[in-house]
Amino acid sequence: MTTQPALLRHSINWQDVEMFDVTQIKKVSVVIPVYNEQESLPELIRRTDAACALLHRDYEILLVDDGSSDNSARMLCDAADMPGSHVVAVLLNRNYGQHSAIMAGFSHVTGDLIITLDADLQNPPEEIPRLVEKAEEGYDVVGTVRQNRQDTLFRKTASKMINRLIQRTTGKAMGDYGCMLRAYRRHIVDAMLNCHERSTFIPILANTFARRAIEIPVHHAEREFGDSKYSFMRLINLMYDLVTCLTTTPLRLLSVVGSVIALLGFGFSVLLVLLRLMFGPQWAAEGVFMLFAVLFMFIGAQFVGMGLLGEYIGRIYNDVRARPRYFIQRVIRQPETATDEENQP
Ligand code: UDP
Ligand code: MG
Repeated sequence: MTTQPALLRHSINWQDVEMFDVTQIKKVSVVIPVYNEQESLPELIRRTDAACALLHRDYEILLVDDGSSDNSARMLCDAADMPGSHVVAVLLNRNYGQHSAIMAGFSHVTGDLIITLDADLQNPPEEIPRLVEKAEEGYDVVGTVRQNRQDTLFRKTASKMINRLIQRTTGKAMGDYGCMLRAYRRHIVDAMLNCHERSTFIPILANTFARRAIEIPVHHAEREFGDSKYSFMRLINLMYDLVTCLTTTPLRLLSVVGSVIALLGFGFSVLLVLLRLMFGPQWAAEGVFMLFAVLFMFIGAQFVGMGLLGEYIGRIYNDVRARPRYFIQRVIRQPETATDEENQP
C-alpha cells in the first residue's frame, strides 16, 4: 500500500486519512521489563526472537533491566553484543518499578508498533504476530484478556474488582487492564512519553490517547521460574498508581460525600435544638444533646472544608502532572504550490 500520494493529492477525503492510519507496520519493537529474571531470560529471548522472525518485517527486542541484583543485566548485555542480534539492552541504574522500566524502554524504541510483555513468560511471546495483525487492521491500542489466568485467587479477585471499577469510571469496555501483553502504535507511545507524571499505569494512560482500541483473548501461563516481583505492599502501591493515573474522582467524592454528611449533621443538629425547645432540658439530657448538636455542625463544616481542599488538590494534581492537553497525530494541508514570486518572469 502506498500512502504517500494521499498526502500529495489536492482534494483529501476522510477515507484517505483513515487509510493513512492503518499504514504498514515496517518495524516492530518489543519492550520487556526485566527484574531478577535470570532463569527466564534465555528462553524469553529465544521464544520472542522466534515469534518476531515470523512477522517478516524488521524488529527489535528492547530488554530493560530494572536494576536487577542477579545476573540479568550481564545476560542482557551479552545478548545485545552478539553479532546480528535484535536485542537492545537498556540498563537502569536501580530498581524503578515495572511501569517506569517500560517507559524507559519506550524512550528508545524505533519501531512503528510497540509491544510490551512480561519477562516471566506468563505472556506467551507466540501471541505477538496476532497482536501485530490486529494493529494492522487500524487499531492504535491492542489489549489482551488472559484466558484461564494462572494467578492466585486473591490476585484474580482483586483484578476483577479493579477492572470493573475502571470500566465504570472510563466507560471503556476493556476487560483486563492488568495484562501487560499489549500493542501500541508509535503515536500513542509518543503521547505517553509526553506525560511527565512519576507514577503511572501504562495500559490506562495509553487508553486516554487511543482512538481505536480493541482487546483480544490470549493464553496465560504459570510463572515457571522465580516468584512474582510484587509483594502485597507493592500491589497496594500499584493499585494507587492505577487509580490516581485514571481519575481524581476519589477527591471529588470527598467533596460530594462531605457535603452530604455536612447537610445531615446540620439537619440533625437543628432537629435536636427544636426537640429540646419542645420537650425541655430533661429530654435533652441536661445539655448533652445540645453539645452533640454543636458537634455535628462543626463536623459538617469540617467536611465541607475537606471537600473544598479535595477540589483544589485535584486541580493542582492535574496541573502538576502536566499531561499534554491534546496530542496531534498528523497535520494535513494542501501541498505548497509555486508561489507568486516564483511565477514572476
Ligand atoms: N518487573 C520490573 N520491575 C519491578 C517489578 C517487576 O521490571 O520492580 C518486571 C518483571 O521482571 C516482569 C514484569 O515486570 O517482567 C511483571 O512482574 P511479575 O511477573 O513479578 O508480576 P505479576 O505477574 O506477579 O503481576
Ligand atoms: Mg508475572
